[in-house]
Amino acid sequence: MFREEKYFTVFEVSTGQEIDLQIEPGMSVSEIATSDRNVVYRQNGPFASMKNGKYEPIGYLVRDGKIIRDTVSAAKWGAFIVPKSGRPFIEKIDRNNVGAIKLAFQGTPQIIADGKKDIRTSTEGTPADVRNYAKRSAIGVKADGTVLLVTTKTNYSLGQLASLMLELGCIEALNLDGGGSVTYNLGHSPKQGYERPISSAIVVRKGVLPEKPSTGGVDTVKKPILVLDFGHGGSDPGAVNGEMKEKDYVLKIGSEVHKILSAEYNVNVPLTRADDTFVSLGDRAKLANRLGAKLFVSLHLNSFNSESNGFESFVYPNQSAKKTGQIRDIIHDQVASLLKEYNIRDRGKKEKDLQVLRDTHMDAVLLEYLFISNPTESALLRDDQFINKVARATAEGIAKAMNLSEKQTNEHWAKKDHDELLQAGLINSDHSHELDKPISWGAALSMINRIRKGEK
Ligand SMILES: [Zn+2]
Repeated sequence: MFREEKYFTVFEVSTGQEIDLQIEPGMSVSEIATSDRNVVYRQNGPFASMKNGKYEPIGYLVRDGKIIRDTVSAAKWGAFIVPKSGRPFIEKIDRNNVGAIKLAFQGTPQIIADGKKDIRTSTEGTPADVRNYAKRSAIGVKADGTVLLVTTKTNYSLGQLASLMLELGCIEALNLDGGGSVTYNLGHSPKQGYERPISSAIVVRKGVLPEKPSTGGVDTVKKPILVLDFGHGGSDPGAVNGEMKEKDYVLKIGSEVHKILSAEYNVNVPLTRADDTFVSLGDRAKLANRLGAKLFVSLHLNSFNSESNGFESFVYPNQSAKKTGQIRDIIHDQVASLLKEYNIRDRGKKEKDLQVLRDTHMDAVLLEYLFISNPTESALLRDDQFINKVARATAEGIAKAMNLSEKQTNEHWAKKDHDELLQAGLINSDHSHELDKPISWGAALSMINRIRKGEK
């Protein structure tokens, strides 16, 4: 859907629709011109980084989910990932697993992360990008999975662009401006050039968008929102035992819970933090409130002394007998029964006046999985197989508690016809694996004639 506003244009693409974004090596985008059915882009010159006194283009080419050309191996890459189903998201690239990446960029280019205005790239020394006003383009994701391509018609600062994307309902967005290098230390000699930290990305739309979303496998149902909250982060490590920090292990478990739920269930799962950053308790609750989340689940680890042990869960005082309590009980029981296999004690279903439980307007549950201070339990945390099992139990508990529907597998549109014809004997062997292949005249004529004669 194309919308022309006074100061900007928006092109909306719903989840499941093919966006076909492509990356060209070393190029960046300055403009996404959207017209009724086309998304056009304009490339800037090659992106440059200083190497051995020379500018070298950076970037790489991803096609069919594989890195084809990689010009800077040491660069830290993030990606705007558009999965075949589910909500697109912004993530650091796992270089060994680039499955569904459609658009990549360098650094940490979020201008908005999970609905919070968060211009993380406004680092000192990038005055041209950060403070200046320019016509800008951005790509964003709404909580329901809709992707927005936005181009401003007048000059915006990055802050204004972030606000615009927020107002348009984006929970994640990134700026796509600029290219090449900027010069600072003006008046000094030699002038120093450096690569812009924001958006070394290119968005390319090849061909024409379908007029309507195709029906097969497209998710048109509004999905419920679960906000997953990983305790602590950044300057706040949470509980610490030697090298082990609560913030890292809840991120590990939680990321896995997020992965499972997003892949297998019809649910949107925005995160209060997706990496090692500090987010205040107030902001965590605010995010969930603003998104209209149905459930808020906060993940923590306990700590006291080396003897303390076990799993416990919390809801806000006087909620145990209410709906929140019922939801908690389902999640608690699922996790407790897994932990029992590891001889981890169930400390019980508790109530506590905790800020994230108090300030969230929806059902909210807080889990304290284990004691990081306990040697047996902290050893379990270092076992990835255990982490995966805990994540699986948590995800399934949440799915049960929220009564989430499972995702349908994408079946070929003609599979049912094929199966019925095979059943009826009108085709004599299984062709389900080649439904998009052409049929020969001979096979077609003999089938039509069989039908004409009423044969099987
Ligand atoms: Zn904690």
